[in-house]
Order: sequence, then structure tokens, then C-alpha cells
Amino acid sequence: MINGRLRGTSLVVDLAALQHNIQEQKKALPANSRILAVVKANAYGNGLVPVANAALNGGASGLCVAILDEALALRDNGIAAMTLVLGITPVENAVIAANAGISLTVGSLDWLEQYHQLAQVIKPQKPLKVHLGVDSGMGRIGFTDIATFQQAVELLENPEFEFEGMFTHFATADSPDDAYFKRQVQQWQKYIDSIENLPPYVHMANSATGLWHQGVITANTIRMGISMYGQNPSGRDLKLTLDLQPVSSLVSSIVFVKKLKAGRSVSYGATYTAAKDEWLATLPIGYADGYPRCMTGFKVLVDGQFCDIAGRVCMDQMMVKLPKYYPVGTPVVLMGKSGDKEITANDLAEQAGTINYEILTNISNRVHRVYHYSND
Ligand SMILES: *Cc1c(COP(=O)(O)O)cnc(C)c1O
Repeated sequence: MINGRLRGTSLVVDLAALQHNIQEQKKALPANSRILAVVKANAYGNGLVPVANAALNGGASGLCVAILDEALALRDNGIAAMTLVLGITPVENAVIAANAGISLTVGSLDWLEQYHQLAQVIKPQKPLKVHLGVDSGMGRIGFTDIATFQQAVELLENPEFEFEGMFTHFATADSPDDAYFKRQVQQWQKYIDSIENLPPYVHMANSATGLWHQGVITANTIRMGISMYGQNPSGRDLKLTLDLQPVSSLVSSIVFVKKLKAGRSVSYGATYTAAKDEWLATLPIGYADGYPRCMTGFKVLVDGQFCDIAGRVCMDQMMVKLPKYYPVGTPVVLMGKSGDKEITANDLAEQAGTINYEILTNISNRVHRVYHYSND
């Protein structure tokens, strides 16, 4: 896979900040709580394996991914920690998970019955670790009635299964209005009360719940996603309650610089025309790298100063106006700090009409990831 090591554009990932964020969340929870680090989607764009290792070294006791392929990539890289696949895995692939000791989310009795049949034929080497998903109001996956949930718990007593966990997921934990959230908590509590023996992992909290609903967490484990990366799950709607530090910075550099004459235009559509002579730099990053085309009209940071993007963002390159001459090689910050100025993932998200999650996860493989510890 091409990783763009040689082009002067990188995503700088501060693993000390990541570990700091885990510790911050840990301090706010009861002493026996566990944190599962959510590293799906290439660790929210930051790189699956380095982030998983840093999270485990920094206080997380396990990992969550979205799909079985991501879990197997962790195992292939020597990571043996508890790993839960949050999405639904096709029954026919579940044996792979069982044999690799990967935990799967199960959301229906049907699925369990099919695996029960399959296991008689295939005879997996190890029991399949199951987390039952409870749909308390998210409407995505999981059990929607208690009687079926209880039947599932019963079926899990068969030797091909290990009942390792149960969990739910909130739809509005990042909203100032908590009425819907409270109804979900009530629903969830009914499922907890409906069984005699709870499994080892009981989890309900995503980042937003860990930030704004600490008092209602009736579980021993939290799933820490966007907050581990130092981002606010609500965008700007709610104030952070923990001292979170941003983990990811997107940095490029000038590859070409010229004096643009008054009257000359820039980029596709010739939408920008210089009113006077000015310095113009070209950067080796574009929308195919995950810097959205709709950032046209936004700004970057050069030497601690905001500089306007000139004309349309191209697939692989973009142009910015400089306040004065800067040489080829000068760093340019598209997300992160430069001097006393900062462009946050939220700033980018607002301009692009999306959320900070999408800004991070869209950064493509062509952007080289660089890892460091800010307190080195
Ligand atoms: C993605 C995901 C999370 C993490 O969400 P954040 O908002 O990033 O904390 C937690 N639980 C489930 C089920 C998820 O799909």
C-alpha cells in the first residue's frame, strides 16, 4: 500500500496526548472501571496498530473495532489484548473470530442459533466470545425485546459460546437535551435486571457518556472513541468536562512558490484572480488525501499566520496565498497549532458541513502517519 512517505505531507499523531486523554477519563470513573479503546476506521484515521499499542500501554484494557478484518489486523501485528468487533459479523466468518480469540457483537437470537448449528459441524477450537448488543433506542443493531434477549443468554450456556459481555449504544449522549438519553438508560437497565448473572464486561458508555453522564454509568467498562483522540463528540454544543488534548495534526509543506502577477488566476475554474502581485505557494495535499474539496475558501497556517486558500482544492495539490516569500520546504499546518494560532478538527468540520469524526477518518492512506510523544 502506498503511504506517501516521500511527499512532505503527514498526519502527526501525538501518542502522549492519547495516553493523557485515557488517564483523564480514567480519573473521572470509579476505580474498578475498564476502558476499551475504540480503534475502528484505522484508529479514527490515526493508524490502527501504533494507536492500539499506545492505548494499551496508556491504560486501556482492551480494544474495539468495527469489523472482523480490523480485529485480525491487530492479531496479525501481535496484539493479543481483548478485542471486540462492534458491528455484525456474518455467521460463516465467526469461526475465524472464535479461533483468534476475538469477541463478537451479536444482536439476534437467529444469529446465535445459526452459529450453534454451524459449530456442530465445524467444531471450532475455542468457544466464541459473545457480547450481546442491546438496542435501547439507537435503532441500529441489537436485541429489541427482553424475552428474546433472555433466550439468547440461555443459548450462550452451550459450550461453543462464552458469554463475555453485554452493551448498548446511545443516540443522543452528546446532546444538551437528555430526555431521549434517559429513556435509553431506563431501557438498558431493564435488560440488566432481566438476567441473573451478568457477564464480565457490561458497557454502555461511548465518549459522550463518559464526558457528560458519568453519574449514570451503570456498567464497569467504557468505550472511549473520539475523546481518546482529544476531540469533543458534540462538536461545540457542550463544553468538555475533561482536559483533553488533540492527538492529530495535519501538516504539509510548500513544494512550489512563485510571485503571482496581478490579474493571473489560480486552479480549476479560474475562480480566484489576484488583485495585486502576491506570493503563492503550492502544497502537496488535496481532496484525495482527505482534505475536502469544500475547504476552498478556508485557511491554513504558515509560520503562525492564517493564510487563505487560493482557488479550488485539487485532487493532489492546493494553493495558498503567502503574506511574504517563504522557501520551498516551509511547514504548513492544515489542522493543528502553529505559533499561537490553531486550526481544530471542529473548524475544518464546520467549514465542510460535517463533524470532526469525518474529518479525521477521511484522511487517506496517501498521508504518511508520523508518531511522537509530545513530552519526549
Ligand atoms: C464508534 C462507536 C463507539 C465510539 O464512539 P465515540 O463517539 O467515538 O466515543 C462506541 N460504541 C460503538 C458501538 C461504536 O460504534
